[in-house]
Amino acid sequence: MGSWKQHIPRSLRSFHLHSIKSRILAFALLATLIPSLTMGWLSYKHNRELLAEKTSGELRNITSHAAREIDIWLKERLYELRVFASSYEVSENLERILRVQGAPVSEGLAPRRLKDYLTSVREKFVHYEALVVIDAAARVVATSAGQAGPVNLPPDWVKMANKDKAILGDTVWDGVRGKTTMTIAVPIRAANGHLLGAMAARLNFRTIDETFRSFSLGETGQAYLMAADGTLVLSSRPLSPPFDTATPTYQVPQALLEMESVLLEYRDHRGKDMVGTLKRIPQLNWAVVAEVGSSEVYASIIQLRNLTFLMVAGLLLGIGLTAYLLGLTIVRPLNRLTEGAAEVAAGDLEVDLPVASRDELGYLTEVFNYMVARLRQGREEVDAINKTLSEKNRELERLSVTDGLTGLYNRSHLMQTLANETARARRHQRPFSVLMIDIDHFKRYNDSFGHLAGDALLSKLASVFTQSIRTAEYAARYGGEEFLIMLPETEPDGAVDAAERIRAQVAKGTSGDGNAGEGVTVSIGVAGFPEHGDTPEKIIASADAALYQAKRNGRDRVIRAGGRPGKGIKGRGRREEPVKH
Ligand code: GH3
Ligand code: MG
Ligand code: MG
Repeated sequence: MGSWKQHIPRSLRSFHLHSIKSRILAFALLATLIPSLTMGWLSYKHNRELLAEKTSGELRNITSHAAREIDIWLKERLYELRVFASSYEVSENLERILRVQGAPVSEGLAPRRLKDYLTSVREKFVHYEALVVIDAAARVVATSAGQAGPVNLPPDWVKMANKDKAILGDTVWDGVRGKTTMTIAVPIRAANGHLLGAMAARLNFRTIDETFRSFSLGETGQAYLMAADGTLVLSSRPLSPPFDTATPTYQVPQALLEMESVLLEYRDHRGKDMVGTLKRIPQLNWAVVAEVGSSEVYASIIQLRNLTFLMVAGLLLGIGLTAYLLGLTIVRPLNRLTEGAAEVAAGDLEVDLPVASRDELGYLTEVFNYMVARLRQGREEVDAINKTLSEKNRELERLSVTDGLTGLYNRSHLMQTLANETARARRHQRPFSVLMIDIDHFKRYNDSFGHLAGDALLSKLASVFTQSIRTAEYAARYGGEEFLIMLPETEPDGAVDAAERIRAQVAKGTSGDGNAGEGVTVSIGVAGFPEHGDTPEKIIASADAALYQAKRNGRDRVIRAGGRPGKGIKGRGRREEPVKH
């Protein structure tokens, strides 16, 4: 039993990872995982692309719309300004001031009229923070504002004015009002075309601001307008740190600056992941950016992705559990079969496995049980045959040492026993004796009663001998009607006594039927070891000689080897009959 328990479970253990159960489980998990993850990933990618496309369209719409609005807005302002600049009030009064004074003055009729004009225009048009008239040397001649501040025009504005071009100044962050303004200017010419100066206007972005605020960009999104130098002009959201400083500047992500009108993903200054697009406004060298937080754009697909993961996990759990149970239904009966087969191999044929299912494994188990039953039956048959064989062997053994007629030991067994006894007696220096018995006139008996009666007599005498000896003593049929009795540990004298008892018993009559056995006598020759011989042959020869002597002396007597007659003296005088034992 030990050998298989040592080897088989160890090999089963070492194959554990390659077991059918593990393979089914691995296959089921992979078969679930690969398609679901692939499908999930493909649908995630596809949805993401769709969302990006949609977002890109929306954001590009916003930037285009804003750019167009700004363009139109600027053109309108320049047009208005040109109208103001070419008005009689402006050119005439400016010319008068410059002609009279040679330099701007604030006192007098012309300056007052010019200022009134500017103030009235500014009040009528919401886009203007201030209107200023400057001379060709950029000195302020008149302003709509109370205080004449500096006018931010590019250094080469005169050249541009001479070419009759619109002069676009820088954007300036108005820290006090918390907003950005921009200065634009158009030339003012005299009736003769001579350049007198310029009509400059500080513009607010109120209407643009309204447009920007109308954009719906979700919770995280915003649109903003940047000047070329990075100054934030306006944003669709209230400014948040770090922009509410004196001059907010904004570092537009490089990627946006490099690729216009393309939806890009980047990380903004707050470290948030955004998707956005940029559109330039060439006339102003400005840019509009519209952006939304990635998490907001992709919220739905992130939710879908998480849901997919959750579903895949649930699926894995369910399929894994099913596959595990399926594996168990295969592996359990297989393990039982393996253990059962091992037990059978170890010799236990009492194995009877439970048939748990009606499938192939159940059928295999039934066949296995049937096979074991057949083996068991075969072994029982073999056992029965073995039993019979050993009985027969014992019988054969018995027959081989037994004389068929008398049931006594046969001659060959006698000779072997005698040899052993001689060796034993010699070794221990102990005596033993033999009685050689011959039936007197047996031939005659045969002749009188028939051979079968002779056989019966032989048998009866044999039982007389058996009853007369002790357990340690030994009786055998030596020849046709000759017997030999061996008496261990007995000197010839004691043997002669025993022989005499036997002789007397025979002479008394061997059967009660009054027929066979009546008048039957035996003659006995007695010889002892080592006195009459130290080998079986010599002892037998001595006993035989004594027997011969007994016959010669008249039969029905006992003669001790060495010539001395035994105690039995009956018939001593019948010497006339021939001796032929
Ligand atoms: P004695 O020994 O007294 O000298 O005379 P005897 O008649 O016994 O002498 P003998 O040895 O000549 O005869 C022995 C006879 O025993 C001869 C034989 O027919 C008979 N005999 C030997 N074996 C058997 C046997 O197995 N069965 C029968 N019925 N007779 C046997
Ligand atoms: Mg005889
Ligand atoms: Mg004889």
